[in-house]
Amino acid sequence: MNWGKCKPYLYMDECIPVIVLGPNFQLFLWAYIAYAIYGFIILILLYSRHLGFIRLSLSVVSYTSTLTNYFLAAFMNQGVSNYSYKYFIQPTKYCEICKQRQQKQTEHCDACGVCIEGHDHHCPWIGKCVGRHNKRYFYVFIFSMFVFQISSILMFTKIL
Ligand SMILES: [Zn+2]
Ligand SMILES: [Zn+2]
Repeated sequence: MNWGKCKPYLYMDECIPVIVLGPNFQLFLWAYIAYAIYGFIILILLYSRHLGFIRLSLSVVSYTSTLTNYFLAAFMNQGVSNYSYKYFIQPTKYCEICKQRQQKQTEHCDACGVCIEGHDHHCPWIGKCVGRHNKRYFYVFIFSMFVFQISSILMFTKIL
């Protein structure tokens, strides 16, 4: 079985790991710690401004959601494709590196060195690819971060 440069952990069965860490895991870890500290400082600054319960809740919830979904996107299996547990309805391509047929929307990622189901893109900030199983966490993470950033800018400039 080919895992490329990814490291699988905690198997549900022989071929399906729950956790897969990508080749850029260290970059993710530093980015995560940096963002957690940065966001915490923002929260303290907002708290010291006595903005009230609703505005503060918006910040706390979007901050917590950002960190939770960022964590899940980086840790959960992104959809590493392994021939042995796949059923093929419409095989389209063949991957020479993984020696397996690919389903639709499966792409080989050179950075991860493995085929990814529902491949979206390779994101070094989560350490690996955005694929079928971590896509939703990734987009909730991006959305939460957007809400946190925009709302804190508006609160600091007293627009909100
Ligand atoms: Zn491949
Ligand atoms: Zn990748």
